[in-house]
Amino acid sequence: MNKSIYIFSFLISFSLFSFAGDPPSHGRKIEFPDVPGYKTLMVDLHQHTLFSDGEVWPSIRVEEAEKDNLDAISLTEHLEYLPHKSDIPYPDKNRAYTLALKKATEDSSGLMVINGAEVTRKMPLGHCNTIFITDANKMLMQDSIEVLREAKRQGAFIVWNHPNLLYQVQDGVARLTEVHKYLLKEKLLDGIEVVNDLTYSEEALRIALDNNLTIMGASDIHGLIDWQYKTAEGAHRPITLAFAKEKTEASLKEALLAKRTAVWFNNTLIGREELLLPLIRQSFGTVTASYYGKTSVLTVMIKNSSSTDYLLENIGGYLFHDNTNIVTLRANGTTKIEVKTQQRLSSFELKFNILSAVTAPNTHPSITIPVTIK
Ligand SMILES: [Zn+2]
Ligand SMILES: [Zn+2]
Repeated sequence: MNKSIYIFSFLISFSLFSFAGDPPSHGRKIEFPDVPGYKTLMVDLHQHTLFSDGEVWPSIRVEEAEKDNLDAISLTEHLEYLPHKSDIPYPDKNRAYTLALKKATEDSSGLMVINGAEVTRKMPLGHCNTIFITDANKMLMQDSIEVLREAKRQGAFIVWNHPNLLYQVQDGVARLTEVHKYLLKEKLLDGIEVVNDLTYSEEALRIALDNNLTIMGASDIHGLIDWQYKTAEGAHRPITLAFAKEKTEASLKEALLAKRTAVWFNNTLIGREELLLPLIRQSFGTVTASYYGKTSVLTVMIKNSSSTDYLLENIGGYLFHDNTNIVTLRANGTTKIEVKTQQRLSSFELKFNILSAVTAPNTHPSITIPVTIK
């Protein structure tokens, strides 16, 4: 083969190969719009490394988070469970944090690394994450309530982790125990994981809403994010969205303590309605509409500028020409909907139930989208 033809065909096959391996259109980077008055921070505040029972070095956690475009992570090593201790006997309990912070600083990626630790006890207390602590070494004590008091002295935000964990509650049902009621009374509990890794707890969402707790979701990753959440196939890790005044550690903490969060899990948003609706409205960008020829069938184009697909149920007054009553607005894409308005209008409203958003057990929010016709 002629050399230039050979190089040309190599380039073609290489580009075809790389095209076939590209992730889906919404890509790896997670993106959500800011909401009026707040920046939307994307955080995963429950992760593990070799410094407790994880399988990777802290720098890998930083690189995974940078690929996902996260704003903050916390490496919440178990204080009491250290299966790698004979290989990694390093005594400083802040070591994973220190190494991750060094890596993020070297990378200048803007990723915030927050110091945290997982208090790891049998039920009824179970596991609690203490985030924004200043020294994990001071939290090595027998009395589990005293550990949480020490965390609070250090300024911690405290989360009840995986209240649905099967080896702790065999029916997978999260229940507020007497110990957790005591923690609430003593102001030693701020949030609850409604989503942990691949699980969702509707009972935990109920507990959060009834007890004014912050709704949290996290990966609790021990292995690799890419393997656990199949990111190459377009899936994603669960994260918490925190609506913060600015992108700083102090602002993130203020947002968490003020319960301004939502969770993104399996292409579904979970959170209080007053927080989810502004995020959804901001995700739906420009809406354009024009009639098809001389007909009364209106072509509406809706842009979704977020990383989540929105699954919508039409509850407006008009039927669609090219869809059933169920429409998916693909992540980072523009979706066409043909609406039979019967007569040619100058404006009207689309109304949807958002099936891929949950504001309370068994409850989906609805949204009205005003449409002006050219
Ligand atoms: Zn745990
Ligand atoms: Zn954990």
